[in-house]
Amino acid sequence: MKAISISAPGGPEVLRLVDLPTPAPKAGELLVRQSAIGINYIDVYLRSGVYPSAMPFIPGLEGAGIVEAVGPGVSLFAPGDKVAYPQNPGAYAEYTLLPAERAVSVPPNVPLREACALMLQGMTAHYLCHSTFPVKPGHVALVHAGAGGVGLLLTQLAKARGAKVITTVSTEEKAALSRSAGADHVILYTSKDFAAETRRIIPGGVDVVYDSVGKTTFDASLECIRPRGMMVLFGGSSGQVPPFDLQRLSAKGSLFITRPTLGHHVAERAELVSRATDLFGAYETGKLRTRIEFEYPLANARRAHTDLEARKTTGKLLLVP
Ligand code: NDP
Repeated sequence: MKAISISAPGGPEVLRLVDLPTPAPKAGELLVRQSAIGINYIDVYLRSGVYPSAMPFIPGLEGAGIVEAVGPGVSLFAPGDKVAYPQNPGAYAEYTLLPAERAVSVPPNVPLREACALMLQGMTAHYLCHSTFPVKPGHVALVHAGAGGVGLLLTQLAKARGAKVITTVSTEEKAALSRSAGADHVILYTSKDFAAETRRIIPGGVDVVYDSVGKTTFDASLECIRPRGMMVLFGGSSGQVPPFDLQRLSAKGSLFITRPTLGHHVAERAELVSRATDLFGAYETGKLRTRIEFEYPLANARRAHTDLEARKTTGKLLLVP
């Protein structure tokens, strides 16, 4: 099978197309013939060494496809089933192995590419506004990178729960997309002071900031939050936030801060399935729209990473084997 392999950390050039034997499923595993592979910002951290990884490895965590074969003891799925998964290593390949309990069933009306687009970024958006800081009517949320993969989905889900949503984006084109996802106010944080602008819109401060940009936004994000509001730092697209003096939370208004990650929010199968059911249901009823901006052939993974890091993309990027 064709796969992408990384044998040393570095830039997009370390993504190499290789030929590998198609693996056979062991006990409890599925072999999936992939229709779509998700690209996510975490793939960049793992490729570049920000998150250390044993080498060599096949990058990618997310995909959707058809079960080709099952290992001994698998009763959840059978060959021919449509499945998707949000978090299992080795996704950038024509075939992948995963523990059956880490896969979810894809409803007949949901195309596999759409299912893939709802997995890692969809489940992240879901846990952020349902579990980390459950937004409700009357809340105001600030969402950075509002036209990104997580950003477009989080905006829609937070709006559906009744919140007012302010987003930040880097270009007018991204602003239009963010508005079409339901953002009430969109700030071009590359040309405006987003903290001052947020305070102009909501003088008392927002209830929650969902900050995935990190290094370049973190300090100003703290300026946007009302007393006893919450800072949710969930990524570092611009770089990692340096060590933080907790004393600052008191001075800024007894703020709460958390640094959540998806793995802890889909660790139990029941929770994984429940989030997937919510997301597929919202998609099927038209309440949640995906935006698959680019589909790259698997062999063009380098190009996909280059575009993502250059802030050229919006919504979901897929690799297609
Ligand atoms: P995005 O599609 O959101 O792409 C990243 C976006 O970040 C860019 O499009 C850009 O939007 C913005 N950005 C701001 N500064 C920079 C910079 N210096 N370099 C690159 N991008 C920048 O990616 P994803 O949806 O895949 O992920 C979004 C974030 O969420 C990532 O930080 C990721 O790590 C995090 N994440 C965290 C999870 C968790 O559980 N903790 C799970 C999933 C994702 P603009 O041009 O508008 O500024």
